[in-house]
Amino acid sequence: MRIAVLGTGSVGRALAEGFTRHGHDVAVGTRDVDVALDRPGPRDGVPLREWVAAHPSVAVLTFAGAAAGAQVVVNATAGSASLAALESAGADGFAGTVVLDVANPLDFSAGFPPTLTLKDTDSLAEVLQRRFPGARVVKALNTLTADLMAHPERLPEPTTVFLSGDDEGAKAVVRGLLAEFGWTDVLDLGGIASARGPEMWLPLWLRIMGSLGSGAFNLRIVR
Ligand code: NAP
Repeated sequence: MRIAVLGTGSVGRALAEGFTRHGHDVAVGTRDVDVALDRPGPRDGVPLREWVAAHPSVAVLTFAGAAAGAQVVVNATAGSASLAALESAGADGFAGTVVLDVANPLDFSAGFPPTLTLKDTDSLAEVLQRRFPGARVVKALNTLTADLMAHPERLPEPTTVFLSGDDEGAKAVVRGLLAEFGWTDVLDLGGIASARGPEMWLPLWLRIMGSLGSGAFNLRIVR
């Protein structure tokens, strides 16, 4: 499939690598290609230019350039900027396109820990679905650290990821991509409003990370 990954941070790189590994045609989107190529990676300090050299099949384009013609558009942008990023990318409003929303609506303006800008009665996924009614938005993978998203085998036992979305066909597409990564326990939470729960997991996720000193953990729904 032709997949646009909007975002050049840890998540964008991790998912672009994962989709490429499974044979998809991947473009990464950013505001300014030259600025992005020179920026050091957030965790390893590796500039995007070096990362691209190691992943030569991945194109780095503007948000709009990456999204053009994509069957799946992944929102891997900062939650506070996601609406603006997708507005600059989706000239056609993503009509019929699967939009995999991996972002969290976090506000770091008052430092750490960040607060949620949306919760309880709304979610970022719903904001995007309302703004782009023709898009087929699916929320998934926002509940775990970037390093694990395309590599569930990095944890010593199977864990759980979630799906939320109104379009069953779009959820099936995302389920297929997750299966390629090796996810075996994919729990469908229901319509797009069910994304509120996974987004509200973030405050607890951040505290667990603080206690463990690592983001290398995940939920497992035992039943
Ligand atoms: P991030 O630093 O949260 O976001 C980086 C991306 O956001 C960049 O591509 C950047 O565009 C874009 N961006 C920032 N400000 C913007 C603005 N004003 N207008 C348009 N675009 C803007 O990176 P991340 O850590 O990879 O996280 C991506 C998303 O996934 C976030 O919503 C995060 O909460 C969520 N998430 C992260 C993790 C994780 O482990 N990091 C795990 C789960 C979910 P440029 O390329 O142009 O700079």
